[in-house]
Amino acid sequence: MILDVSFPSPKLLFLRRMSHKKVRVRFAPSPTGGLHLGGVRTVLFNYLFARHHGGEFVLRIEDTDQTRYVPGAEEYIIECLRWCGLDADEGPHKGGPYGPYRQSERKALYRQYAEQLVASGHAYYAFDTPEELEAMRELEKSRGNHSPQYNQRIRRTMHNSLTLEAAEVKALLDKGTPHVIRIKMPEHAEVRFTDMIRGEVSFQTDIVDDKVLLKADGMPTYHLAVVVDDYLMKITHAFRGEEWLPSAPVHILLWKYLGWESSMPEWAHLPLILKPDGNGKLSKRDGDRLGFPVYAMNWLDPKTNELTQGFRERGFLPEAFVNMLAMLGWNDGSGQELFSLDELVQKFSIERVHKGGAKFDYEKAKWFNHQYIVKKDDAALATLFQPVLEEKGLHPDPAYTARIAGLVKERCHFVNEIWDHGFFFFTRPEKYDTDAVKPKWTAEKQAFFETWTAALNDLEDFTFHTLEEHFKQLAVEKNIKPGELQLPFRIMLCGGKFGPPVFVIAETLGKKETLERIKLGLAAIQA
Ligand code: GLU
Repeated sequence: MILDVSFPSPKLLFLRRMSHKKVRVRFAPSPTGGLHLGGVRTVLFNYLFARHHGGEFVLRIEDTDQTRYVPGAEEYIIECLRWCGLDADEGPHKGGPYGPYRQSERKALYRQYAEQLVASGHAYYAFDTPEELEAMRELEKSRGNHSPQYNQRIRRTMHNSLTLEAAEVKALLDKGTPHVIRIKMPEHAEVRFTDMIRGEVSFQTDIVDDKVLLKADGMPTYHLAVVVDDYLMKITHAFRGEEWLPSAPVHILLWKYLGWESSMPEWAHLPLILKPDGNGKLSKRDGDRLGFPVYAMNWLDPKTNELTQGFRERGFLPEAFVNMLAMLGWNDGSGQELFSLDELVQKFSIERVHKGGAKFDYEKAKWFNHQYIVKKDDAALATLFQPVLEEKGLHPDPAYTARIAGLVKERCHFVNEIWDHGFFFFTRPEKYDTDAVKPKWTAEKQAFFETWTAALNDLEDFTFHTLEEHFKQLAVEKNIKPGELQLPFRIMLCGGKFGPPVFVIAETLGKKETLERIKLGLAAIQA
């Protein structure tokens, strides 16, 4: 018989919508390593939803699995949120009315709920030793069951409070025998719920195993802790990655069994971020293989000392990174792609998040960064570029750097590319592309540049307009096509066939430097 525990009922949904509860959402990462861009997108959708509805955004550190705990990972997550401008309102770094916000610090409060579930018959004590569990797995495998699970069939054969006499259970507990508490999954039932993104979702309970809720060391597992904390922290909407969907029936049953049905958050399982070819979830390894970052910021694995580059260190501006992430799975329906964070807050709606996975496209990510670099104020770009100059031992006037940033930013995808496109504004050419000039060099051209040098010396108005006008006029007088002289002039100023308009370069370098470079350039051509 199919027992339908469909949840929440339409009536409940209606009542909940009418209750106008303050929106509270949470990002609940486990501090196990670098923060994947999918994780940052979960942060972003939480943040946007909370801000859009005038609600609150909580950061909760889910560190109950001590074996996976990595030192430094929590601080790293907090720094990622700060860098993206998506800080939480409550969390371990700033406290709040529902703390502590680290599950390891809440350890003492979970057992009572696990015991409550045992008392109501929805969970049970399991005393199986690691050896017994291993023996069970071996036996099952020898019978052709390749992924043995502690489920409705197996639990009848194991060492637990469902198979042992009550007195024996009591004796074991009194003796302090190590044990876990497992959920008792109902048989032949169907769990249904309405996901904000996927609509109605249903699961057969027969294929879900009896998950451990409380471990032998008294720590809750993720499954128990996430439900208890979402309840105690009054979370109204839970956004998380699609990979958590298979756990949803366990969580929904726990909400029901603990008697908290009417407080259960609405769920939204966010679509995966896919590899560029669309084949499966984007992993850090894909980034390593294809040469792009997958983590938000540099991550140094304390165990292996392996450094993984992040979007921040690759040169992404946080506003571009955030905008790009918003578009991985959401749009406003208008075709617009560039949104400020304020605009995103205004326009974000969960109804417009797609069900299907979103392919990650690194070229598109660079395009977003380019757009934000072009939009960014020149002085701000100069500040960001400053460390690159300092590393090279250069200390130009910030106003000059800002001017260069403004001249070359149209060509840059990253801030450090200001150097690639404008290094000659900061240092004199070390080599000259004389091959481009020498074959057509003539005594007339040489004479032109000598006269031009003298003319420049007397020029008061050293602006590109005037420079260009004089240059062309002199060329006409000397009977040489100005086009044939501009390339040598460019090579004298910057060493090669690149850079902004040549008279703009001259104006920016200023008279003294331009004259010096013509002199050095002429010498190089003649050498
Ligand atoms: N601790 C889980 C994680 O690491 C959170 C899943 C959830 O949000 O329920 O992603």
